[in-house]
Amino acid sequence: GPITTDMKTLTEEIEKFAKDKKVEIDTLKIREEYRKDFLGNVSHELKTPLFTVQGYIETLLDGAMNDKSVRKKYLQRAGKGVERLIYIVKDLDLITKLEVGELNLRKEKFDIIELIQSVFDLLEMKTEKKNIVLTFDMEYGEPIYVFADKEKIQQVVTNLLVNSIKYGHSDGTTEVSVENLIKNKVIVRVTDNGEGIPKQHIPRLFERFYRVDKSGSRSEGGSGLGLSIVKHIIEAHKEKIYVESEIGVGSEFSFTLEKAVVEVDEEEPILSDE
Ligand code: ADP
Repeated sequence: GPITTDMKTLTEEIEKFAKDKKVEIDTLKIREEYRKDFLGNVSHELKTPLFTVQGYIETLLDGAMNDKSVRKKYLQRAGKGVERLIYIVKDLDLITKLEVGELNLRKEKFDIIELIQSVFDLLEMKTEKKNIVLTFDMEYGEPIYVFADKEKIQQVVTNLLVNSIKYGHSDGTTEVSVENLIKNKVIVRVTDNGEGIPKQHIPRLFERFYRVDKSGSRSEGGSGLGLSIVKHIIEAHKEKIYVESEIGVGSEFSFTLEKAVVEVDEEEPILSDE
């Protein structure tokens, strides 16, 4: 039947590829499994918002369009679905680039405190909605210079803060601190007093599409890729990421960064393509 033919072709293809590239067949088979698994997850993630949008459009065409207030509401919901699809596709694009090592790091010296403050400002709407307060748990005003890819670290801070808001309780607090570690490192901690994460889920948290509560987090939006992106970015910097969590108490995500050498003269940002 066609299935056997497909399987045979695939096996032959893998064998030929392995011979050409001189790689182990086992490695390729694992990669192929991984790829299939990944594609399966992707289509599943895309289906939910696509069906939502389709549903609203169909209902509108079936007559809901004639009612002015319903029309607006349904169009807004369809719009939300499209927005969600755009998030997922953007995340997928980023993660694919990170995984094939296509994205070069553009390291420069910048003030991590200022960056965190700018992310606080960007998230103001989200925090106000849930009445969550974002605070700095540290002496204020002093800059702390690090040497890293600013844009990508901004993504890391954003993803961690968005999670602390999503999984935090209303009227909760998220604290961010930056501390000196030994030698030339700092550690950035994001601590919330939200729902916490069950122990058994912690080792899998950074996997693509992994969620503790499948239904619950889905209603909160997100692509299930946030932490996976965070881990890729931190590892590309050859830094470390940690998580500690207790049910009912909260979670703390922390990561290390390289301190920048403080120079007397301010120079152009140093770009490296490491
Ligand atoms: P998602 O889009 O589902 O938020 P993430 O990769 O960012 O995807 O997170 C994976 C899962 O980890 C989440 O679905 C949630 O179950 C859990 N999680 C992440 N951050 C927190 C947090 N601060 N508190 C509790 N659970 C969290």
